[in-house]
Amino acid sequence: MKNTNIEDQQVWEYELKQRLHILETEQQATAAADRQQLKELHFMHCPKCGQKLATENHGAVEIDVCPSCRGLWLDANELETIVATESGFLKAWQKILR
Ligand SMILES: [Zn+2]
Repeated sequence: MKNTNIEDQQVWEYELKQRLHILETEQQATAAADRQQLKELHFMHCPKCGQKLATENHGAVEIDVCPSCRGLWLDANELETIVATESGFLKAWQKILR
């Protein structure tokens, strides 16, 4: 009977950890669902005017162009790829916007 308090404490700590773990898992699932919902809503839409983006190919790089406001959107590392190509970024830009 001497150990009862310690055992209770251990059971309480274990149950608390279990509850927190369940809550954490639920929150992560909710966050993932929210992220998915936002992606579905905004994917390939202009962040400025909300219109659907068109994709223009420039060499190995796909540039997303907004037909409405003429904004240009590049994925990660695409700017570096364009700058590194012979024709250069400004020529690519002019070609698309012409
Ligand atoms: Zn736009």
